[in-house]
Amino acid sequence: MKTRLRQTRDWVFDLDNTLYPPESDLFAQIDRRMTQYVSELLGLPPDQARKIQKAWYAEHGTTMSGLINNHDIEPDSYLDFVHDIDLTPLNVDPELHGAIAALPGRKIVFTNGSRGHASRVLGARGLDGIFDEIIGIEDTGYVPKPQPLAYAHLLDTVNVKPERAAFIEDMARNLEPAHALGFVTILVHSQKDWSHEPEGARPASADDKHEYVHFTTGDLAGFLVDAIKEKG
Ligand SMILES: [Mg+2]
Repeated sequence: MKTRLRQTRDWVFDLDNTLYPPESDLFAQIDRRMTQYVSELLGLPPDQARKIQKAWYAEHGTTMSGLINNHDIEPDSYLDFVHDIDLTPLNVDPELHGAIAALPGRKIVFTNGSRGHASRVLGARGLDGIFDEIIGIEDTGYVPKPQPLAYAHLLDTVNVKPERAAFIEDMARNLEPAHALGFVTILVHSQKDWSHEPEGARPASADDKHEYVHFTTGDLAGFLVDAIKEKG
């Protein structure tokens, strides 16, 4: 598998909680905006809206997918609403910038969020300009990971060859289809407590074990530097 890493020519990165630390609590802001959206749409108090939101998230991959399937919402205005957040908790990360920039081949962001959100986050992290492609949820016809159609976009439209590609994620369930397609899979974990999220749909913690995960790391920049080092 180490050899596979050195032969990788397409590096596919998740965005949220992968290219920034979960400790910045950015996703909690998005989460609250999603609850507010569902609450206003359905005319429900936030605690009830939140239960529905989390059920959709667990079942469909994103809250938005549940909203589209059950309430035929307009996805772009929803995305603008939930991604209207404060990015000041994010810091520029020169170490991660250097590690990603040094990777051979294409660097791709593949997110269940919008393209605009991805661009703003990359800017705030000082990671703009190093990615060859940014694939947002708009590009897959709003089909999120881990649904197979989202991955088909990556292979068919972006022409990623899984046997020479790595898939990097904080969410284990999104690595299962990637592994089945032949990607090298890398799970990024943190110390953060995610027990408020539905079981099976939580970002990874250090003791997670899955047969479809080849590598786990709590230090993405360090992992990438090591990944492309010559043997010995
Ligand atoms: Mg993520």
